[in-house]
Amino acid sequence: MKAMVLEKLCELNENHAPLVLRELPVPVPHENELLLKVSCCGVCHTELDEIEGRTQPARLPVIPGHQVVGRVDAIGSKVSTIKIGDRVGVAWIFSACGECRFCMAGNENLCRAFEATGRDADGGYAQYMTVAEDFAYPIPASMSDVQAAPLLCAGAIGYRSLRLANLRDGQRLGLTGFGASGHLVLKMVKHKYPNTGIYVFARSLAERVFAGELGAVWSGDTFDQAPHKLDSIIDTTPAWEPVVAALANLESGGRLVINAIRKEGDKRCLLDLDYPLHLWQEKEIKSVANITRTDVRDFLNMAAAMNLEPEVQVFELEQANEALVELKAGKIRGAKVLKMA
Ligand SMILES: [Zn+2]
Ligand SMILES: [Zn+2]
Repeated sequence: MKAMVLEKLCELNENHAPLVLRELPVPVPHENELLLKVSCCGVCHTELDEIEGRTQPARLPVIPGHQVVGRVDAIGSKVSTIKIGDRVGVAWIFSACGECRFCMAGNENLCRAFEATGRDADGGYAQYMTVAEDFAYPIPASMSDVQAAPLLCAGAIGYRSLRLANLRDGQRLGLTGFGASGHLVLKMVKHKYPNTGIYVFARSLAERVFAGELGAVWSGDTFDQAPHKLDSIIDTTPAWEPVVAALANLESGGRLVINAIRKEGDKRCLLDLDYPLHLWQEKEIKSVANITRTDVRDFLNMAAAMNLEPEVQVFELEQANEALVELKAGKIRGAKVLKMA
């Protein structure tokens, strides 16, 4: 099979082709696993963090990709609920121990043995992959493969972020960063909280225009002051400066949710934190870590019910490096998806 493989870590600014096209054997599923013939795989900012070493793969080489849609091509002897030919998705959660106190409480996203698809196990930048039956999700029939792929990370984790934001209908929500996840959260909010005004902070004018087209009531630069204080803000940027700027826009008692697996090195701006301006008045900061299977399932049902259509830009598998370089450069309009030939 063809696969785009990460063989060694590098900086994307110095190496515009971090992944290498390889011909590899088709993997063989274990007794509890499915073999998927991959149809599509979304491209995520987390792949940049893996390639550049901010969230290190457990081993190299590894096949990245954690927003996978495919059809079941073969099953292990103990697979019982999924059949050959079924269409399923795979998300960031590849496995968890199932026994620890986090897993037992349904917080498997916090399991210390959490394994991530495409980082700790081979993912979907390939024609085939294997995954445990328990970590594959039927894709609602109304969704196309290309439409479903970006929902499996950007959408599902956006859904978890929104859940953690504690928003009530009519309260004001800010989104700082407006990439794949931000634009899906905006659409979810319009559906779930129709009376909530959405305020978007983004570096690029194109993203701000896009936010306006999708129904944001206001959009501005990352460091602008919004016309109102905001009850919740979700940060999807890879940097610290937007966090500081967002805290200044947060209402008393408000919550900032940081949806990022790692932050880049601009930590010096944290020295500008001013307690009365940024933190006092019971402002909260909460990070989002990974996702649970329940998040993925609940979100896919909601996405089908509201016919959530992500804006998508399609690339071939062999163009994965181009897609990653564009992502790094901030050339985002919706979500990038690799489509297997
Ligand atoms: Zn992702
Ligand atoms: Zn566990």
